[in-house]
Amino acid sequence: MTKTSALVLFSGGQDSTVCLASALERYDAVETVGFNYGQRHTVELDARQRVMARLRSAFPKWAAKLGEDHMLDLPALGAISETSLTRGTEIEFVASGLPTTFVPGRNLLFFTYAAALAWRRGITTLVGGMCETDYSGYPDCRNDTLQTLAKALSLGLDKPVTIETPLMYVDKAGTWAMAEKLGGTALVDLIIEDTHTCYLGDRTHRHPWGYGCGTCPACELRAKGWEKWRAAKASRAT
Ligand code: ZN
Repeated sequence: MTKTSALVLFSGGQDSTVCLASALERYDAVETVGFNYGQRHTVELDARQRVMARLRSAFPKWAAKLGEDHMLDLPALGAISETSLTRGTEIEFVASGLPTTFVPGRNLLFFTYAAALAWRRGITTLVGGMCETDYSGYPDCRNDTLQTLAKALSLGLDKPVTIETPLMYVDKAGTWAMAEKLGGTALVDLIIEDTHTCYLGDRTHRHPWGYGCGTCPACELRAKGWEKWRAAKASRAT
């Protein structure tokens, strides 16, 4: 029997951690890739290491499948996110609630780099935590966008490339529920303590759902999802 394998786009956030757990549950061998483009903080990169170390120690059955971690430096993305805003687009950004470091279309770039790396590793399945339920404002997270990209990558690499997005139609409450289903309380605790989602890189404020400023759009979404999931659990228990 041939071994199945996948490459997971892993940022150290809640969504990509759940995707990594999901891939570890479903594939024989799983590798990870992260992108370094001068993120606002090294907080994200620290979270990656922390999450992987704890996944290995707390889930021996997954540790056996978790292979190499790859870091790709993409300084060009950093340059775009730091310097290229015009006055007009800056105003649009502030109004939209997106962080000003946001790079439009960046998931297309991430998957294209990941596909090239996967080709070299003999892997044809890419897994990412994109979701169109909560972030309908991010057109590069949409299923149509990513499935069309998978088609282009398959043609361009002359090999079938599959893009899997287990969270595509799952809201944040559903992501917490999925974590519990995959790894029980241990995985939920790991996500609370070790993953990082906050746009501001805040690790000083601890909430029931984890660390973060509590007010940026990413924190708000995470907190809302947590409350909805807890409420649903409580109503089932009574
Ligand atoms: Zn925040």
